[in-house]
Parts: sequence; C-alpha cells; structure tokens
Amino acid sequence: MTKIKAVIFDMDGVLIDAKDWHYEALNKALVLFGMEISRYDHLVTFDGLPTKKKLEMLSIERGLPEELHEFINCLKQQYTMEIVHQKCKPKFYHEFALSRLKNSGYKLAVCSNSVRNSVQVMLDKASLLNYMEFFLSNQDVSKGKPDPEMYNNAIERLGLDPKECLIIEDNEHGIAAAKASGANVMEVETVEDVNYLNIHKYINLFEENL
Ligand SMILES: [Mg+2]
Repeated sequence: MTKIKAVIFDMDGVLIDAKDWHYEALNKALVLFGMEISRYDHLVTFDGLPTKKKLEMLSIERGLPEELHEFINCLKQQYTMEIVHQKCKPKFYHEFALSRLKNSGYKLAVCSNSVRNSVQVMLDKASLLNYMEFFLSNQDVSKGKPDPEMYNNAIERLGLDPKECLIIEDNEHGIAAAKASGANVMEVETVEDVNYLNIHKYINLFEENL
C-alpha cells in the first residue's frame, strides 16, 4: 500500500495570503508607466504566474515596451517586500498543522513560482521556514508552473515516488503543474483551508481508497 510520506505546499494562496500583495505591488510599479491590471484580469488570467510571464503577456497584449521589463520587475519585488514586512505574520493554524505533520514523520517542502528571496522572507516572517526540508523557487527551474518541472524536482529530491506525495495548490496553473507531476493533489480555496484537520482528512481518505 502506498502511504503519503511528504506534503509539498505551494506558497502564495496556500501558506501565505499574498495574492493581493503581488497584485498591489505589480500595479504600483506598472502605474508609473501608465498601465494597470484590473482585478478581473488578475483573477482570470494573471494570478499565479511569475512576474516575468505577466510582463511578457502585457507586452504582447498591450504593447508594454520589453526594455522596461527588468526595471518594472525590480520595482515590483521591492514593493512586494515592503508590503511583506508590514503584513506577513505567523498564523497559528499553519504553525499547528506543519508542526503536527512534521512530528508525525511527514517530510515538508515548498514549491513556489515566486523568486527565491520572496519565498525565503515570507516563509521566515510567517515562522514556517524551519518546518521545511527545502523550498524551490522559480529561479531553481527553467520553466515555472504550470510546467511540472518544480514539482518533479522536489519529488526527486525527497527521494519519493510521486504517489507518496501530497501537493496542496490553490490555482489553475499550480494545479496543472501538480497533476502533471503524478502526485496526489489537494485543491484549496483559501489559506484557511490549509489546516491540520483538512490535510489529515485528505491523507486518510486517500489511503483508505487504495
Ligand atoms: Mg498559489
């Protein structure tokens, strides 16, 4: 019987409620150049994609000059970190879930489409970094999600079969990447859904159905 041995978390929208932070930070940078992403476009198209990809799409769809990408990206990361330092705080239900899972012997890791520094700082500010074996960012792969590369690498690094891993994801691009890796996927709507009871229930359900 296959047992779940590891839980791999997406970060934004799963462990950290950062969707709005990324949205606000990118718009704060874009608005300097007369451009803005509406909340509707953010929710249906852009959410969950790396900033680089969003900028490429804005160049194709709205003629944002490509020469500005690097500068806007830099500003966006800076603005994101400012917001993170103000708003990123530990959440009891996450710390509780991660410490119980870790104490029960599950290996824990994070795979995020964000840049390495953001992942490091956010997990640290949320007091979650110490529970993780490792984390992978979009700088650790050649293709971010929806490509499964990040999840494939994480599963290999854990030395496990995909079926022994549970991936927790919240959005379309991440769910596509997680499913393509062959792992079990738990889809969540909000960061509050990522609690010990829900994860434990899912693992039991999966193992009973084998
Ligand atoms: Mg996400």
